[in-house]
Amino acid sequence: MFYTNGMKIFFESMSEIEHFTKNLKCQEKLVCQHCLKFDQLVSHGYVYKNQHLSDDIKVGKRVLCSNRYNNSGCGHTTRLYLKGRIPKLSHGAFELFVFLSALISGLSIQKAYERAVGVPVSRQAYRWLHKLYRKLSDYRRFQDKNAQDDSLFKSRPKNLRQLLATLKQMFSQHSDCAGYHLHYQKPFI
Ligand SMILES: [Zn+2]
Repeated sequence: MFYTNGMKIFFESMSEIEHFTKNLKCQEKLVCQHCLKFDQLVSHGYVYKNQHLSDDIKVGKRVLCSNRYNNSGCGHTTRLYLKGRIPKLSHGAFELFVFLSALISGLSIQKAYERAVGVPVSRQAYRWLHKLYRKLSDYRRFQDKNAQDDSLFKSRPKNLRQLLATLKQMFSQHSDCAGYHLHYQKPFI
């Protein structure tokens, strides 16, 4: 998807993003994720927390493989994000981490969701869990399966038990979901 050629897409701060997008054409090894051309990338405006409000909080920036003027790119856009953003989700990495930590500490799905976002509506929590289950094999690739202990979660259904045991181990290495973004340069979910 976005990251096959190794473009960094998660950043520590907006100033780091600004720095990265300032001299795109001078970065020799930077290629478009789509067409693999290397000298057509231009900075192309901000990503806002709420897409409908252009004066809203900046959470990232777009990079365009330019097909305008004298450029011969493909027109594909890549989004760069602050480490706390999860692409396509309204809640951020921090809320998701609070939710998962609460589950790991033994709270029910509903209580964990309420702790994370302050609202006791758990439909969204199940949506998160479904996305997380689909990523489980991804998370497990980076884990030491021998060191995993899912006996802590034995009262949970099997898929949730596996997920929590894996994430417990992962968080002990990467601190949180935002840390995962910076380390692997992939969206957590
Ligand atoms: Zn391109």
